[in-house]
Amino acid sequence: MTERTFSIIKPDATKRNLTGKVNAVIEDAGLRIVAQRRIQMTEAQAKAFYEVHKERPFYGELVATMTSAPVVVQVLEGDNAVARYREVMGATNPEQAADGTIRKLFALNVGENSVHGSDSQDNAKIEIAQFFTEDQIVG
Ligand code: ADP
Ligand code: MG
Repeated sequence: MTERTFSIIKPDATKRNLTGKVNAVIEDAGLRIVAQRRIQMTEAQAKAFYEVHKERPFYGELVATMTSAPVVVQVLEGDNAVARYREVMGATNPEQAADGTIRKLFALNVGENSVHGSDSQDNAKIEIAQFFTEDQIVG
């Protein structure tokens, strides 16, 4: 089923000029980039976005990392896009990520792991709405 997921190319990747290389992996996997914008995340945006992790020990570090440089926020569309993009991203910790995945190819460590992708269709809808209006998504 065609669906949408939310993606972020994180600061560690934008800082190393990897936006195009990450996008090539996304597109080669059959996912279509139907909205994309480069932004500097504010602390408030990062805190709200990662609210579910606020009790975790790495929350402060995560918010600091996500606001340390620009990010590219994206909407991806395709068959089973949520699960498909999780596969394409690879495991959270790049040491456990499969060959050919974005995190295996580019991530520096578990914190600076190059990309975010929604973990469910419900969260995809919530996350997309935090950064895009419907008219900005052109499928
Ligand atoms: P994912 O991004 O794969 O969905 P999580 O939702 O568990 O992973 O965590 C959100 C983000 O928090 C991760 O992508 C990573 O940037 C950061 N993170 C997760 N676990 C750790 C950790 N043990 N140490 C530092 N940062 C972490
Ligand atoms: Mg997650």
